[in-house]
Amino acid sequence: MSAASSQEALRREVRDWLSQNVDAGWRAAMTDSEQEAFFALQKEWFSELVKAGYATPHWPEGWPGGGRSLAEQKIIYEEVARADAPRLILYFVALYHAACTLFECGSAEQQSRYLPAILEGEIWCQGFSEPNAGSDLASLKTRAVRQGDHYVITGQKTWSTMAQYADRCLLLARTDKGERPQAGLTYLLLDMRARGVTVRPISQITGDDEFAEIFFDEVEVPVEDRIGEEGAGWAVAQTTLASERGLTLVELSQRMRYALPLIVDAMRRSDRLDDAAIRRDFGRLITHVDAACALADRYLLKRISGDEAPGDASIVKLYYARTLREFTALGKRIAGLDGQYHRGFMRGATQETGNWTVDFMNSYNWSIAGGSDEIQRNIIAERMLGMPREPRDWTLKGQGA
Ligand SMILES: Cc1cc2nc3c(=O)[nH]c(=O)nc-3n(C[C@H](O)[C@H](O)[C@H](O)COP(=O)(O)OP(=O)(O)OC[C@H]3O[C@@H](n4cnc5c(N)ncnc54)[C@H](O)[C@@H]3O)c2cc1C
Repeated sequence: MSAASSQEALRREVRDWLSQNVDAGWRAAMTDSEQEAFFALQKEWFSELVKAGYATPHWPEGWPGGGRSLAEQKIIYEEVARADAPRLILYFVALYHAACTLFECGSAEQQSRYLPAILEGEIWCQGFSEPNAGSDLASLKTRAVRQGDHYVITGQKTWSTMAQYADRCLLLARTDKGERPQAGLTYLLLDMRARGVTVRPISQITGDDEFAEIFFDEVEVPVEDRIGEEGAGWAVAQTTLASERGLTLVELSQRMRYALPLIVDAMRRSDRLDDAAIRRDFGRLITHVDAACALADRYLLKRISGDEAPGDASIVKLYYARTLREFTALGKRIAGLDGQYHRGFMRGATQETGNWTVDFMNSYNWSIAGGSDEIQRNIIAERMLGMPREPRDWTLKGQGA
């Protein structure tokens, strides 16, 4: 079978499976849902996807569902977006950030200890950012002091997605001052149930508490849970950050495309289907959504052919974040007073739900998470366009580096 026809067969297979397995009522069940309902839906959907082999197409061959080419992964993510299946918000860090880091930098023993647990449904969080270390991540201050066969951790992390539910944390901590701030960092896998860990969820303006602060009070981490050498955590962290870029934006751009009818729905409800100004702005949005999908596709093609250049991923992220804000702002504007009404939030939802006030507020996530818009612009300017670097060495350009 040619590559094209086997990909077409995969698309049909995934589409059929999704049509039989996605419960169309999941969104309604999640609005204002209690934690238990959210957990139940996430767990059930996660285990269904793992069983079908669609949760881990990016894992290497030999693992369930693994060994898929980038083109095949893209098909799976596109179909998941088309089917409007729930996003795996509880498992995202485990499946991508943790697994990719373990595959690239973990020892064979660490891989065999942690990867099966991830497939069983262990939840992980990422503990990188601190109150004074976000874009400039290398200035982080959480300390790890070696004492015999373990490290003792003291400090604080913040904005850690789903940390209040996590079993384990990808932790970046300082073991040494180092000549450059990046030099003294060490990468550890921390048990969130260990003595001395306190998690405080952060209440958001939407009503959700999607992320949390984590406090470490002399928490012990065995040396065997260190990834890479002591002081070499910066390079490991780059692997984790790179995994965030993966195909996420291919899926999210497609989700935005399939959500465009929400705008038509808002126009119909507010009797503005014939409003020329709204039609013009909707037309413009459609072209921007198409461009976001095309940029994500082009990025993927570059990765497939090994032509990825510095700054390519930043362009995709920057454009997606801008278009998502435009999408939700237009929905909110069309819905008028009705769009101002806060209908509660939907745990683990996609970015576009038609609950416009919450969608609009959530759309700003993408301009900050994984490296802010300004940081993406710096990367494009300096690494792609060859413009002069900032006068001061900001060291990281951080979470987007
Ligand atoms: C939805 C979401 C999920 C997140 N999940 C996690 C997580 O799971 N784990 C984790 O560790 N972190 C997480 N974060 C944190 C995220 O990585 C940081 O918020 C981000 O890196 C920005 O850091 P900061 O908030 O400290 O802002 P700062 O770095 O203080 O930036 C403040 C402002 O200054 C600008 N700025 C900073 N430096 C420069 C510069 N050199 N040039 C120009 N402008 C600059 C920024 O663009 C921004 O507008 C998450 C954030 C969000 C929004």
